[in-house]
Amino acid sequence: MNSGRLIVLTGPSGVGKGTLLQALLQAHPELYLSISATTRTPREGEVEGVNYYFFDRPQFEAAIQNGDLLEWAEFAGNYYGTPIQPVRDRVAAGGLMILEIELLGARQVAKIFPEALRIFILPPSMKVLEERLRSRAQDSEEAILKRLAVARSEIAAADEFDLQIINDDLDTALAEIESAIFG
Ligand code: 5GP
Repeated sequence: MNSGRLIVLTGPSGVGKGTLLQALLQAHPELYLSISATTRTPREGEVEGVNYYFFDRPQFEAAIQNGDLLEWAEFAGNYYGTPIQPVRDRVAAGGLMILEIELLGARQVAKIFPEALRIFILPPSMKVLEERLRSRAQDSEEAILKRLAVARSEIAAADEFDLQIINDDLDTALAEIESAIFG
């Protein structure tokens, strides 16, 4: 018997998952964040083995074939996946492991870890989500509209999850996640 648990955080691009996650990790050092593998190129400041494991496509495809990934998906032209062994080890040791992943991967997790707590983060409204995506000011109009369309279809899947959290006020959203995890 142990109290190990897997927690999955998902939600559309621009919803503020990353900010919530960082706040959660800061407040709870007993939470371990899973480090994903990806084929996308590192962004400025990203470190191998800290932000991601950066794989090339053949390496990633070999990891899929070998069953090394708990879940994987293609997102915006790149592969992303969760190495399974660290998750198994951490949960078996009674630890709390958290994944921050997109929708298709989050769906797959339930098959292997049906007891995982799966949380979907929602924006307060589509208008707010659009404003957040635009304020990043790094995408073309076409890319923003595409992201919004994807976000809309992702949001339609929110009720597949154990818990839906509206990220309007950060502290409120954080408190709701904390009470779901720690009771
Ligand atoms: P970014 O390229 O901005 O770091 O991440 C793009 C998207 O990939 C985000 O929505 C993020 O949640 C998702 N992602 C990161 N790691 C994984 C993973 O291991 N599996 C899946 N399915 N999605 C991931």
